[in-house]
Amino acid sequence: VWWPHEGRIEVKGLVVQYAPDLENVIRGISFDVKAKERIGIVGRTGSGKSTLALSLFRFVEPTAGAIIIDGIDISSIGLEDLRSRFTIIPQDPILLSGNVRSNLDPFNEYTEDEIWESLYRVQLADAESRSGDGRATADPGAISLIATLDDPVSEGGRNFSQGQRQLLCLARALLRNSKIYLRVSLQVTISTSPHPWCRLKIIVMDEATASVDFTTDRNIQGTIRQEFEQSTLLCIAHRLRTVIDYDRVLVLDQGRVVEYDTPYNL
Ligand code: ATP
Ligand code: MG
Repeated sequence: VWWPHEGRIEVKGLVVQYAPDLENVIRGISFDVKAKERIGIVGRTGSGKSTLALSLFRFVEPTAGAIIIDGIDISSIGLEDLRSRFTIIPQDPILLSGNVRSNLDPFNEYTEDEIWESLYRVQLADAESRSGDGRATADPGAISLIATLDDPVSEGGRNFSQGQRQLLCLARALLRNSKIYLRVSLQVTISTSPHPWCRLKIIVMDEATASVDFTTDRNIQGTIRQEFEQSTLLCIAHRLRTVIDYDRVLVLDQGRVVEYDTPYNL
């Protein structure tokens, strides 16, 4: 059976520190997220939002407490397996030097059209940019719209802005989402019971800080909304406005939950 098949998250008494001699960054937090709920996570800088997101993928390991997803404690799941089951758009994604194609499709799994489709959806390309010579920008190192899949990506992705790097990560997530579905539908053709729920059931978005303009923010939100309608969504936001229509908002302060309620009640 595919896990997670619903996307329920239970965080129980989670405590996280980055090193034994450092203070706890997450100080015993507990909350539940229902399947398909959209949760906004807000709080001052340094309150532990990214750390919480990273804990879901075990990029940091808790010193106490547990995260349980659809009834399974994630500490019992292998790291590689865990990280392939749901996806995070990190706050400051690092791209590999190469080109757009090698970053979106490192294992040559997708067709050219599938890759372009994902770029259209995150609005990093349009038919015009693809067919033409792209949009020249004043700064030759900067890329506005992607013109060819061979467009270069420099070390760390520094020729892209933080927001654009996030959009590329999102494009990669869209590709993966389609692939998981295909893989599962193959299984479905051999098994008898159809499982149309086997997509990425949990998506975590750690919004970029300062550099993201309003339009990019809206694009990211719009794309996530459309593409991951059936998924549980955790979105770390820097503006309450971004998550004002979410189901609930979790407010963190110094590693503790101080509010967890509908945006209306906050
Ligand atoms: P922001 O809104 O600025 O993104 P945040 O809420 O995401 O902040 P975190 O990145 O989770 O905050 O950081 C929480 C605390 O943990 C901070 O005090 C930070 O200095 C510390 N911290 C974060 N990453 C590490 C690390 N790799 N090693 C040691 N301490 C860290
Ligand atoms: Mg952060």
